[in-house]
Amino acid sequence: MTERPADQQRSAGVALTTLIPRLTAACGADAVLTDPMQLRTYECDGLTSHRCSPGLVVLPETAEQVAAIVRACVSAGVPFVARGSGTGLSGGALPRADGVLIVTAKMRRIIEIDPASRRAIVEPGVTNLAVSKAAQRYGLFYAPDPSSQQICSVGGNVAENSGGAHCLKHGFTVHHVTGLEIVTPQGELTWLGDGTGAAPGYDLVGAFTGSEGTLGIVTKIVVRLTPVPQAVTTLLAAFETMGHGGVAVSAIISAGILPAAIEMMDALAIEAAEAAVACRYPGGAGAVLIVELDGPEADVRSETAAVRAIAEQARAFEIREAADPAERAAIWTGRKSAFAAVGRISPAYIVQDGVVPRTALPEVLDRISALSAAAGIRVANVFHAGDGNLHPLVLFDDSSPGQSEAAEVLSGAILDECIAHGGSITGEHGVGVDKSRYMPRMFRPDDLDTMQLLRCAFDPAGLCNPGKVFPTPRMCGEVPGVRHGPHPLVAAGAAEAF
Ligand SMILES: Cc1cc2nc3c(=O)[nH]c(=O)nc-3n(C[C@H](O)[C@H](O)[C@H](O)COP(=O)(O)OP(=O)(O)OC[C@H]3O[C@@H](n4cnc5c(N)ncnc54)[C@H](O)[C@@H]3O)c2cc1C
Repeated sequence: MTERPADQQRSAGVALTTLIPRLTAACGADAVLTDPMQLRTYECDGLTSHRCSPGLVVLPETAEQVAAIVRACVSAGVPFVARGSGTGLSGGALPRADGVLIVTAKMRRIIEIDPASRRAIVEPGVTNLAVSKAAQRYGLFYAPDPSSQQICSVGGNVAENSGGAHCLKHGFTVHHVTGLEIVTPQGELTWLGDGTGAAPGYDLVGAFTGSEGTLGIVTKIVVRLTPVPQAVTTLLAAFETMGHGGVAVSAIISAGILPAAIEMMDALAIEAAEAAVACRYPGGAGAVLIVELDGPEADVRSETAAVRAIAEQARAFEIREAADPAERAAIWTGRKSAFAAVGRISPAYIVQDGVVPRTALPEVLDRISALSAAAGIRVANVFHAGDGNLHPLVLFDDSSPGQSEAAEVLSGAILDECIAHGGSITGEHGVGVDKSRYMPRMFRPDDLDTMQLLRCAFDPAGLCNPGKVFPTPRMCGEVPGVRHGPHPLVAAGAAEAF
């Protein structure tokens, strides 16, 4: 007989209640939160439009405790969700009312830093910036640098394959993780990768990185550390229009220069940053470009001169060069605070995250501005121009009837433009719960089914962060693929099915 919703709710409640003694025995009473007021603290991540109070919260301190929690959930058939610092912007850590939220905030040890092999082993709750701070005395740093690096956890970074301003040159999280200790969705503690980044066989570290908490829970991470560059230059170039700034970006890359970062902000984003942190960017700028160059001193010196010349040619009306770390920080302040800063000029906003080929940037920015004008909704643009990763900030008034919906529609239309120009619906913030509905716009059912095969191989019971990434959860027993006809590559004669 099929259970009715009220019965389902009751049986979920019963399952959770039976878990409490097991979780308390494994982690201690203090680690298990059941008070509704405390549970509400965890009802959302950085994407506050999706909220749900978790059934239970557990704060383990060791990998063995995480494994015990997962085993308890599996035996009771209860879903579980991992959470790091809760700064995710796609609802990846959104809890379930019938599930357990496993929060890694107490797993904050930097277990080892080995300067000889330039590796560190850290627990998942360690913040991104803490790794660089700890490595500093060896002349090393942890390169992936999301703007949230002061608070986001390395475990969350692994789950999201997070990037940051300097990923253009230094790479994303996946390029800096060489081994992972995980608790599988069955509750088994195991290692993926051998820590060298050169283990033979399937690249399971690569598959796990960016899997958004759906393939298991990370309990230790081996990260690669990078030598602090000998020299760094930070330039800020101001242009009258975004078009001129875009010309400079293309010219820098086609000159064969690979800056550590090329970031761009439009007039509205600059206005917001001024209002929030008084960053004192040049007045009247329609666009600012931040270009950071790092490496051996001689290279940085000649590249700085080349970038200056290119910016002047692209009609920059002011170029500033940071003379010391304080001036560098001042240049970055406006950019790093941009997301939160738009709160100063708008009651509500959506942080969108899409990617386009760098060459399509001017066209897509024009389309965004046309869509914004047509909808009567302002869009501020802040983005990693070097790798085409856009962050349009859709500004709206949530107290005005219909505006939230209109902003959502505009936000989706921007993603459609990204797809139409050969890009992607996410660059670094992940799919989570928010963008699962856009996955079919980018992938055919066959593609989604193939991804599900991987998920099912790790999590046949479907208890590990269910309802995320995929638009229509399919039971693992279902055979994917056959209903959709030949794969487009096969149909086009570009691949063979055998
Ligand atoms: C102001 C601001 C700026 C940001 N800037 C950037 C940026 O520049 N670049 C960027 O990439 N992102 C950025 N983000 C997004 C966010 O900070 C990153 O996605 C970050 O990696 C999330 O880490 P977290 O610890 O907060 O993870 P959470 O939000 O807690 O979780 C994120 C996902 O990871 C999973 N997860 C967490 N811990 C584990 C674990 N131990 N094992 C398995 N899965 C786990 C969760 O289930 C969830 O799916 C920004 C966010 C904010 C608020």
